[in-house]
Amino acid sequence: MSMLALADILAASRTISGVAARTPLVPSPHLSGLAGRDFLLKLENTQPIGAFKLRGAVNAVFNLPDGTEGVTCCSTGNHGRGVAYAARARGMKAVICMSSLVPQAKVDGIRALGAEVRITGRSQDDALAESQRLAAEEGLVEISPFDDPHVIAGQGTIGLELLEDRPDLEAILVPLSGGGLAAGVAVAAKAIRPDIRVIGITMDRGAAMYESVRAGKPVEVEEVASLADSLGGGIGMANRLSFPICRDLIDDYVLVTEDEIYDAMQTLYYEERMVAEGASAVGVAALKAGKLPDIDGPIATIVTGRNVDMRVFTDIMNGRNVSLGDLELKGRAYAA
Ligand SMILES: *Cc1c(COP(=O)(O)O)cnc(C)c1O
Repeated sequence: MSMLALADILAASRTISGVAARTPLVPSPHLSGLAGRDFLLKLENTQPIGAFKLRGAVNAVFNLPDGTEGVTCCSTGNHGRGVAYAARARGMKAVICMSSLVPQAKVDGIRALGAEVRITGRSQDDALAESQRLAAEEGLVEISPFDDPHVIAGQGTIGLELLEDRPDLEAILVPLSGGGLAAGVAVAAKAIRPDIRVIGITMDRGAAMYESVRAGKPVEVEEVASLADSLGGGIGMANRLSFPICRDLIDDYVLVTEDEIYDAMQTLYYEERMVAEGASAVGVAALKAGKLPDIDGPIATIVTGRNVDMRVFTDIMNGRNVSLGDLELKGRAYAA
């Protein structure tokens, strides 16, 4: 894969050092017992913004030329937080565009990171249009959450750290949405260990990258409510980078159900004392559901973030029912 090389990821590792954290890789005794081999958790939920997206955002922002007017994006989630934090770290203006439907807590969260929040329209498309207008007319640079070479290289630094800490890993489980994370991790890990397996894991409803790879080209998927809300959304019909890299380098895909994600979030909390958002629990969900392909050696999964709505989180930990949009989940108390 020539679009991005190990050298880009090594450079990203130097660029982000001191702003994004080098995160711990810890064994889970409980999950290792279930897996019958070492099962390790890469704790990206311990990043300063609570999610790995900081790596790509910092690498993108710090590679902009001096004198850049500022940056913009339309993400209300972890990418928006990452861009806001990275821009503040570089002393650069950030404008995060959102629709009027975004909950006030998310608006406040991004503002607290020092960014300007621009509210326009009533849909994500309106917010995207405003962010594109700022890029075209006001000279701000728009940063894609996954289809940008610096973003992908930044996320790829996770692959370097994983193999530095455990050169004997056999497989890496990667939560998959737009594919920036999986693309970066796969390029890094396979450059170092060509035989390592990279397994993309996503929810079984609205799995945009999985459907696109099956179709051989980017396809639109219906957006549905999910506990793994950070994995929702499309990959972009004009996708240039993350689609071809994922298509060429991801070895297997696993799709998990909402009930499996519910259980995996409980497992990470009750067994590991960890607050993990649904998107970051899908690797654990795949293991517990017995959906992983045969793997002989140590396995690592990336616990990608902890930015979960605490009302939903406490409902799940208490085994209560959850309703999210059209999704109705029956509660269950955790049982080891
Ligand atoms: C963005 C995100 C992902 C998926 O990353 P992609 O690069 O879009 O595939 C997974 N988990 C969390 C918590 C995220 O914020």
